[in-house]
Amino acid sequence: MSQIQTRPTILVFGATGAQGSSVAYRLLKNRGYHVRCITRNPGSEKALALEAAGAEIVGGDLDDIHSLLDAMQGCYGVFGVTNFWEHFEKEFQQGKNLIDAAHQSGIAHLIFSSLPSYSDLSSGQLPVPHCDIKAALENYARSLQIPATFIHMPFFYENFFSFFPPQKEADGNYYFGFPQGNTPLAMTSAEDLGPIVALIFSCPTLYMGRTVGVVGEDRPCKEYAAIMSRVLGVTIRYRHIQRDIFAGFGFPGAEELANMFEVQRLYIPRRSQHVMESYGMNPGMQSFESWVLRNKTQFLELLNQPEYAQEI
Ligand code: NAP
Repeated sequence: MSQIQTRPTILVFGATGAQGSSVAYRLLKNRGYHVRCITRNPGSEKALALEAAGAEIVGGDLDDIHSLLDAMQGCYGVFGVTNFWEHFEKEFQQGKNLIDAAHQSGIAHLIFSSLPSYSDLSSGQLPVPHCDIKAALENYARSLQIPATFIHMPFFYENFFSFFPPQKEADGNYYFGFPQGNTPLAMTSAEDLGPIVALIFSCPTLYMGRTVGVVGEDRPCKEYAAIMSRVLGVTIRYRHIQRDIFAGFGFPGAEELANMFEVQRLYIPRRSQHVMESYGMNPGMQSFESWVLRNKTQFLELLNQPEYAQEI
């Protein structure tokens, strides 16, 4: 960190994860910035790969504001993201540490990955902490009047590899299901965030104070199922599962995810404007079809794994 940088320095959080890695690698590719990545494990494979690609790696932890203040020294900008699914309710304090550090450091531009309050959208009926906490963090950053832009990421295409892999059933076909009904589900690949964040950093006056919704596709789930079926050559169907049934599945986060889909089904209309703006900001946004095609081998391997292929 003692080296004098001629290019503005941007500190990237979550650079070993989905969103931050897309941002860090895009900023490195642009060559206009010195890219500093903060991680709890500077020796991890992903951190070493970032270093090999030209990033500066610094150790730090969202639980420790002093480490964040150190990492932000001399920075022009910060890309911030917090991870609810590892830390749960602690996400608020961690995000607050990030925002407070950005405020105290006087950085020129914070781009923070937040989400709308699903609790507010449902008039308090359907709390969704991983969204509601991020909305509270966005409000907190706005209350401090720090120079910031907020990014709202939708459901990732990549969730079909993690949270919602299609499962083979007794009829030989594959199914995925949740309480989204026929309401279009906004989605995107986390990989497509980087160019959008890079553009926002390069045009601060245009985006300062704004919330940008990133959306690559906005279709009913049965259309996503049809696309997967066509590209992968197997039959995949979407099944609507009612909120109360999904909430009772008993896995950690089942109720929260049930509420998330229910809010989207009932209260989130088409995201056409976000689709148009996203493709305008990043013409390389992947359609769901192009993403499935590019990941066809990995998808077919997943579907053929015994744990997914077994009849249920
Ligand atoms: P991810 O791939 O799950 O990786 C988590 C990242 O957070 C890692 O880079 C990790 O870095 C970093 N991290 C975690 N705890 C940290 C700590 N205490 N201090 C410093 N860094 C820490 O990340 P992601 O998927 O990009 O982001 C997760 C967030 O995305 C969640 O909050 C989720 O709600 C939100 N989100 C997800 C979706 C979706 O569809 N999946 C959609 C919208 C929003 P190290 O391990 O290297 O320290």
